[in-house]
Amino acid sequence: MPTLYYHHSAGLNHLTAPGHPERPDRLRAIAQGLAHEKFDSLVRHEAPMADLDVVALCHSNEYIDELRHIAPKEGMIYLDGDTSMSPGTLEAALRATGGAIAAVDAVMTNTKTNAFVGTRPPGHHAESSKPMGFCFFDSVAVAARYAQRKYGIQRAAIVDFDVHHGNGSQEIFWADPSVMYASTHQMPLFPGTGSTQERGEDDTIVNAPLHAGNGSREFREAFNLAILPRLEAFAPELIVISAGFDAHWRDPLGGLELREEDYTWVTRKLMEIADTSAQGRIVSVLEGGYDLEGLRDSVAVHVAALMNN
Ligand code: ZN
Repeated sequence: MPTLYYHHSAGLNHLTAPGHPERPDRLRAIAQGLAHEKFDSLVRHEAPMADLDVVALCHSNEYIDELRHIAPKEGMIYLDGDTSMSPGTLEAALRATGGAIAAVDAVMTNTKTNAFVGTRPPGHHAESSKPMGFCFFDSVAVAARYAQRKYGIQRAAIVDFDVHHGNGSQEIFWADPSVMYASTHQMPLFPGTGSTQERGEDDTIVNAPLHAGNGSREFREAFNLAILPRLEAFAPELIVISAGFDAHWRDPLGGLELREEDYTWVTRKLMEIADTSAQGRIVSVLEGGYDLEGLRDSVAVHVAALMNN
C-alpha cells in the first residue's frame, strides 16, 4: 500500500515567541525521523495551499477574512494568550489544510492508499469562527467535509488521540451525524471540553477522557471499549486522524504516559477498521507533540505502521 507524505517548508515560517512549544523545530524533528532509509518508499509531496472556499466548508467567511486582514506584515500579533500570527502564519495554515485536502484527493482517487500530513500549525482547537490553542483552521474537519462534498462520502470519522480534546472538531460536527468525532484526551486539561456526556445532537461524538498518569493500559482500554466498537458500527468510508503526539510520556504539555508502541498499536487498529469499511482510506494529520525526540520517534512509528512496515 503506497503511503503519501505531505509537507512544506512554509511551515517553518510560522513563527511563535521564544520558548513557545509549538515551534518550527517540530517539523525539523519530523523530517529527521522520516529521513531514515526505511521511509524511502514514502511518496513525498509538497502541501498545496487550500482554496479559501474549501476552508469555508467549516469556517465562516467573516472569520477567514478577519484572519487575512489582521495577518501582520512584520512582527507578531496575539489572537489569544498562546495563539499568535507572524507574517508566515497564514500561508503555513493554508498549506496545513491544503495538505489534508490533497491527501483526501489522493486516497479517494487511488486504491489502497493512505497519507500522513506533517504540517503546522495544528488545527483541532480552531472553531468555526474562532482561533484557539495554536490553531487557525481545523484541517481534519475541512478534510472530512471536503471528502463528503467532492466524493459523496456518506460517513466520515475523525479520530483524535492528541492529549488535548479537539473542541473545534466537536463544535463543527456537533449536529452533523454524517461525521463521527471520537477522542481520547487528558482531563482536566486545556481546553476543558471532552467529557463523556458531550455526545452531540445525534450521539455521534464519542469522548473517552483519560487522567494524568494514565498510560498504555488505560489508553488501549479506552479505544477497545469506548471508541473502536462505535467506530466499527459507524462503518466510516474515510478515517481522518487528528494525530497529536503530546500524550507521549516525554511531552511537556501532557501528563499521559504513552510509548511509541501505543501509537503503532492504535494506528494498526484504525487501519483494520479502514480496511473493513473504507477501502483502507486514512488521512492522518499532525496536531500536537512538543518534545522533539518524542515527536520524532512517535511520528516515525505512526508512519511506519501506515506503510505496513
Ligand atoms: Zn495537543
